[in-house]
Amino acid sequence: MLTLDESRVQDLLRLDALIPAMRQALIDFSAGRVRQPVRSILPVPEAGALFGVMPAVYGDVLGAKLVTVYPDNARHGLPSHLATIQLFRAATGEPLATMDGRLITELRTAAVSAVAADLLAAPAARVLAVLGSGVQARAHIRALRLVRPFDEVRIWSRTPRRAADLAAEIGGQVTSAADAVRGADVVVTVTGAPEPVLRGAWLGDGTVVLAVGAVGPTRRELDDDAMRGAVIVDSRAAAAQEAGDILIPGVAVYAELGELLAGTHPLPQTPPIVFKSLGLAVEDLAAARLVYEAARGSISERRIDDRFPGTG
Ligand code: NDP
Repeated sequence: MLTLDESRVQDLLRLDALIPAMRQALIDFSAGRVRQPVRSILPVPEAGALFGVMPAVYGDVLGAKLVTVYPDNARHGLPSHLATIQLFRAATGEPLATMDGRLITELRTAAVSAVAADLLAAPAARVLAVLGSGVQARAHIRALRLVRPFDEVRIWSRTPRRAADLAAEIGGQVTSAADAVRGADVVVTVTGAPEPVLRGAWLGDGTVVLAVGAVGPTRRELDDDAMRGAVIVDSRAAAAQEAGDILIPGVAVYAELGELLAGTHPLPQTPPIVFKSLGLAVEDLAAARLVYEAARGSISERRIDDRFPGTG
């Protein structure tokens, strides 16, 4: 069994390879080819934190991500989201790898948003607004630049210094949230805010919103008005339990992203289009599988299971 720490995962995982893998995982999920319950989330109230258990069976692998969310970890010099992933061979139940899941969580989330933007945003989208300046903000700017030619990136964050640091790092501009969003082609919300940071009044008809923060039925980043158009989710079942952005205003889900990608559901026409991302175990498993295969590839050419059609 392989043990891969974060630096090894970083050597093996390529964002450009992750984007098509996430696309396929979302299609397979929505087509019913993945066995996956909605994750269990245990509160850790003494630390104001959460512990999530995310299992899935997907093709020739099965496994689980164990993830912790400690929003105040910055004061200990640690990321707020930490994780490990256990990967097993589905045919025999053999453990294949235990690997760090922090970077996988960071990159798979941004890769899923890139898949959504690639499908839903105008081909010539050039203005990106980012609300938030943490780990996901950075990863999203990187991933979204792979699918659209953004030449203007506007950043707002609760702590102005952090917005300024990120803007300097990626060549963006710091603005108010309203000024960032008005006229933007794509808006990403990647904050830990429990109350809306994005107002629907700021959104134009052609804007696509990638709503990535706010996991939990009582938390939301978008106000009621921002949810007036077509709402796409990664998982209907998860949204029914975990998406305050949908549950608080009581809006209907138009489709799962995997259904749109597969073409089994027509593309939405009612603006503004919002993709509400919650994060799925199958995304972690598909990413871990890529890492495992890259690690094995450097040792031998053996695949996990030659009978699995996805292992070409
Ligand atoms: P970080 O801890 O790296 O960054 C948190 C960001 O949220 C900072 O920019 C911070 O602003 C901002 N923030 C925190 N609290 C508030 C608040 N009350 N009001 C406004 N802004 C706030 O976290 P990540 O970047 O890793 O995660 C961002 C969000 O995305 C989280 O909600 C997380 O749970 C979610 N997430 C979703 C995933 C998915 O699959 N959908 C996967 C991973 C994360 P500042 O520093 O300026 O104060």
